[in-house]
Amino acid sequence: MPSPLPLIDSFNRVHDNLRISVTDRCNIRCFYCMPDEPIQFTEREEILTFEEIEHFVRVAASLGVNKLRITGGEPLVRRDLPELIEKLVSIPGIKDVALTTNAVLLKQHAQALYDAGLRRLNIHLDTLDRERFKQITRRDELPRVLAGIDEAVRVGFEKIKLNVVAVKNLIEPDIVPMAVYCRERGFEPRFIEFMPLDSQSLWDRRKVLLADEIREMLTSAIGPMVAVPDSDPRAPATDFAYSDGGGRVGFIASVSKPFCLNCNRIRLTSDGKLRYCLFAIEETDVKGLLRSGAPDSEIADTLRRNIAGKWIGHEINSSKFIPPPRPMYAIGG
Ligand code: SF4
Repeated sequence: MPSPLPLIDSFNRVHDNLRISVTDRCNIRCFYCMPDEPIQFTEREEILTFEEIEHFVRVAASLGVNKLRITGGEPLVRRDLPELIEKLVSIPGIKDVALTTNAVLLKQHAQALYDAGLRRLNIHLDTLDRERFKQITRRDELPRVLAGIDEAVRVGFEKIKLNVVAVKNLIEPDIVPMAVYCRERGFEPRFIEFMPLDSQSLWDRRKVLLADEIREMLTSAIGPMVAVPDSDPRAPATDFAYSDGGGRVGFIASVSKPFCLNCNRIRLTSDGKLRYCLFAIEETDVKGLLRSGAPDSEIADTLRRNIAGKWIGHEINSSKFIPPPRPMYAIGG
């Protein structure tokens, strides 16, 4: 039987990268993502079960999806997450599974995640300064985060990247210390331009520390770096390598250098909605199909239709921009 056509949108972009949010809950409160309290989280019964996620991924894999990223909220607050990882890494066609975490609970779970077959970790950490960590996250959890990172290294994780959200007039003092911390440990820092996804509409273009500004800071403090030819031009980060061989740095310049024309990403929210873009306004429900016993062909058609209707990209830089109604913590990175 001929293999089904891949997921191609009207701009000829092939979609093979699925980001799965397994919860909208989190154990810290980054001001550029979540309000402090109270927060109305999704009811447990409305959250997809591991079996439903696995079912959806099997269908998506049959349409060419081969890369998965597990996100949240904070995915490690979801109980028994290694069980889901174990299911997903064994699905035919899935070649790569990664996790994005804030590492507060990583010390407890690193071994089980590694044993379940996870090999790639992105750790969201903006600062190594305890006071600024508290200021950004409204929680005093930096010691646990650093212990979690050390434990991840101890159990064998080699591909560790640190995601740093670059808010201007806040994290400038952290840029170089974070880069040095990563150089010393063989990690790759990825500096992410602040995007208008926060639930309190704090975003303002003047608060965006641009990728080029960060690269200049690192070049003058640490040394020259050269652009690394894109191993995957569809990956969001533009990679640079230090000329002295001291490692790599990634820049995700979503605001100043949008990369939507190469986008290959689809998102599944924890309550079973498909989003063809981080900034999508409309969503497509698949939970109803998964819970009503709909045939896989119907789930596949729904996924295809969602991608067929995908826009060319976000409009952050145009007056037409409308912030997505769903906040970042309920979308996942
Ligand atoms: S903003 Fe949307 S279209 Fe652009 S790269 Fe991100 S997910 Fe893709």
